[in-house]
Amino acid sequence: AKIYNLPNWGDDFFSINKKGHMCVHPSPSSKYSIDLRALVDDLIKRNIKPPILLRFMDVLQGRIAAINRAFKNAIAEYEYPASYQTFFPIKVNQQRQVVEAIAHYGKKHHMGLEVGSKPELVAAISFATGEKLPIICNGYKDNDFIEMVLYATRIGYDITIVVEKLFELEKVIALSRQSGIVPKLGIRVKLSSKGTGKWATSGGDEAKFGLKISELLAAVEILKEHDMLDTVKLLHFHIGSQITKIDKIKNALIEGTRIYVEMRKMGVGLEYMDIGGGMGVDYDGSKSSDFSSANYTIDEYANDVVYQVKNICDEAGVSCPNIISESGRATVAHYSVLVTNILNTNTQNALPEFDEILENADELSPTVRKLVDIYKSLDRHSLRVDYHDTIQLIQEAVSLFNLGYLNLHDRALAEWLCSKIFIKISGIVERLKSVPDEFQEFQLSLRQTYFANFSLFQSLPDSWAIDQLFPIVPIQRLNEKPDIMASIADITCDSDGEITSFVGENGRTDYLPIHKIEAGEDYYVGFFLIGAYQEILGDLHNLFGDTNAVHVSFNRKTNYKIDTVINGDATWESLKYVQYKGPEILKHVRDTLEKGVASRKISFEETSHFLELLDKALVSYTYLGSI
Ligand code: PLP
Repeated sequence: AKIYNLPNWGDDFFSINKKGHMCVHPSPSSKYSIDLRALVDDLIKRNIKPPILLRFMDVLQGRIAAINRAFKNAIAEYEYPASYQTFFPIKVNQQRQVVEAIAHYGKKHHMGLEVGSKPELVAAISFATGEKLPIICNGYKDNDFIEMVLYATRIGYDITIVVEKLFELEKVIALSRQSGIVPKLGIRVKLSSKGTGKWATSGGDEAKFGLKISELLAAVEILKEHDMLDTVKLLHFHIGSQITKIDKIKNALIEGTRIYVEMRKMGVGLEYMDIGGGMGVDYDGSKSSDFSSANYTIDEYANDVVYQVKNICDEAGVSCPNIISESGRATVAHYSVLVTNILNTNTQNALPEFDEILENADELSPTVRKLVDIYKSLDRHSLRVDYHDTIQLIQEAVSLFNLGYLNLHDRALAEWLCSKIFIKISGIVERLKSVPDEFQEFQLSLRQTYFANFSLFQSLPDSWAIDQLFPIVPIQRLNEKPDIMASIADITCDSDGEITSFVGENGRTDYLPIHKIEAGEDYYVGFFLIGAYQEILGDLHNLFGDTNAVHVSFNRKTNYKIDTVINGDATWESLKYVQYKGPEILKHVRDTLEKGVASRKISFEETSHFLELLDKALVSYTYLGSI
């Protein structure tokens, strides 16, 4: 567990059992757990093929509970006189079953939904029934969007329209006049406080959304003119996702709350302060301000929010607002795990062995002979010199080959010897008390590439796009020391489709410790903490479509229960996104085959077999089956 830093990023939802299998717990440190490897074996027996996205609904519930518990405790500790609510920003994961589950579990915590577009609004109103599931609308809005909110308000939905731009306010006022429906308004303000990391530009004066302070005052004047100051119930700000440093959050809270109290004093009818998203997830377990981590916990976040808001409101003599956070990542990151198989092509086992040349090297070319000598004599004392000589000799072998002085066989020998020498060096380096700088990164030269049956672009787009770390761990044999260092490559035809940064014991590492896979062994890896953003940002690179998804819940009698299986895209579905039609493809191929039959290039039986294969390909999963 330690080499993958599991105890530090798993938040006690994941552990390793006696069999060496990865397990998922329904709640942190619960004595009950689901054995991931056993679950995957069961799913495969049911013909659910990898890659499989496992959604653990208990984990989702656990995260919702943890966030709400942290705020409840903070409210009690500071005797905060108002409430807290999470509004789940559905852009983080819009899957119907996920939002449905959040709406269901979130009921007792009075959770709401945050939407940022018209399609998201349509999705949200399909769940919400009146006050039971309030909605906040951020983002750009056209007239239809605003009107839809107004009419939904009339029939009892609780929807707040957050004004992001001054012109939006004018539109809202005009449409409200026209329809005679009084809206519930929010105003988003641009803070000068910024977040950290990749999303820092969501805050600050140049942020894309929100009103500048001068615009805020103009908005207040416009609202006053229309006698609508009391329709503004919510002040909103958001300084970016995955804020890694707690002090940035504190700064934003201080500035945001100061604006809140000033606006209240100006007669604006504010009751809520929406502090946006940004609560970080510690993906690598380093508890640092690296952008894949966060230097605070949920409890610290909640305490700081409640304390800062109360402090400033008390000082200003203004009653405290109900606090809202739009914590998306922190709510859903943990609940989903992608599991897929390593495509063990056994090429390692198929490589030729040249051991006999170690005994008799006389006949070999001088370059290869020198490499044999190095291999035999290499020890702790000659490490550095032998390493340098090996590098030089392998370069020499390539040059000699290019000039025609070395044949292919001898070049293969040089390559083989070089790997053997590097493995020997690695063994010596591992035993050294102090490792010379030059060998600190040496392991990297031994890194192998393990191919996994998935698309990085579909399933972990942020790993590719912004080099974000996600914990990756084999789900079996975790009681055996992994003997191989590997990168994980996907099956797209894109050399970017490879993961070369991993969560290790001491932070980011360049390789994943993984086991040597035996011939015929089914070996799986899990990609963890991928519930936020990854499912929706993924794309169809090489037409690899949505993966199979399985919703799993914990069950005391049967250990687990499969709540839903959502089939991944079949090939025809991926093709449909890019305007191909299955029947047209079949017709085209059949016509071409007929020509082949006419010219006797193909037999009837071969035609039939080809069409069967095509038929099967169209309806089957886009990922690899047996190879
Ligand atoms: N609210 C708004 C307005 C956002 O733009 C975002 C995402 O950046 C969020 C909430 C969700 O942020 P997070 O997932 O970091 O909690």
